[in-house]
Amino acid sequence: MKLCKLILTENACYKTGRKITPKGIMVHSTGANNPNLCRYVGPNDGQLGENKYGNHWNQDKPGGSYVCVHAFIGKLADGTIATYQTLPWDWRGWHAGNGSIGSANDTHISFEICEDDLTDSSYFAAVYREAVELCAYLCKKYGLTEKDILCHSEGYERGIASNHGDVMHWFPKFGKSMDTFRAEVKKLLGGGSSGEINRPDNGKPDAGEKPIVPEKPASFYADTEYCVRGKKGKWYPAVKNLEDYAGVPGDAITDVAIKVSKGSMKYRVHVKDGDWLPYVTGYNVNDHKNGYAGNGKVIDAIEVYYFTPDGIKPYRKAKYRVSPMNGSYWSWQYDNEKGNNQDGYAGSFGKLIDRFQIAIITE
Ligand SMILES: [Zn+2]
Repeated sequence: MKLCKLILTENACYKTGRKITPKGIMVHSTGANNPNLCRYVGPNDGQLGENKYGNHWNQDKPGGSYVCVHAFIGKLADGTIATYQTLPWDWRGWHAGNGSIGSANDTHISFEICEDDLTDSSYFAAVYREAVELCAYLCKKYGLTEKDILCHSEGYERGIASNHGDVMHWFPKFGKSMDTFRAEVKKLLGGGSSGEINRPDNGKPDAGEKPIVPEKPASFYADTEYCVRGKKGKWYPAVKNLEDYAGVPGDAITDVAIKVSKGSMKYRVHVKDGDWLPYVTGYNVNDHKNGYAGNGKVIDAIEVYYFTPDGIKPYRKAKYRVSPMNGSYWSWQYDNEKGNNQDGYAGSFGKLIDRFQIAIITE
């Protein structure tokens, strides 16, 4: 592997500066016929080559999109293959969009393999090998195994990425798959018996592998937009559906504002060491009466109830969750349901929370 570094410091994703604890690696390919790294990575450092159109990703929103990955694999100006790291590995990337149950942006290191016209076997072999080596390097660095690697299309099946086909529209053209890919990473990691590596590709997972598709992909019935204020006094940027979370790890949430694109909702928050505040239904951080829930004091629980528009059956629900300060998310809560490990609200009395997510789903 030829690993180089050019961090995309002008990209809005880099500037947002959110961190993750890497739990896996997501493999992408670009979906465009341009194998040159300089298409995406810039400015020219002498070996990348010149991007005449100035459309590389070292700008706020490349092509108007919220996109950024941790690395690219492709061609240098001299035609040789290299990997360019473009975000710190434990930064939160914008690569997976959102799936039915969450986003790999919160958990996965990501890289793009620059596609050519998908007919050149020598280019494919070179970037495939480079990607195997990059994954082995990252697995060692973060204590991961080959089982923690998946591609974008597998992420969609698992409900943690948007509906894209990469890389399975490309690898099979040259007799490869994500299973062969993982097996080759495993070889580099030096683990397991060779029999396991060469298991017949019958589509059945190894006994130790996580089941695929834990929850079936579903689209959102209505879009949510929401934001929170932290104890430090600032309203953080609004986020949509499960594309991101509202809040910043380490800053306890005090107030919450939520909007839905259709239907309506009522929501309220529980003040730590206090009571539930009245329900609100609006979305306006300047309207302290009905525009948000909260009174500026730290909260420990949120309750949301979604009203499905008239005539729509079955009823849709608000699916939401919170995370304790600097911890991992607690289970999803649906509306104000109790039972099935649900309390009727998201949170735990007495414990501060720092992240919030909500979507309207069909179930
Ligand atoms: Zn992708």
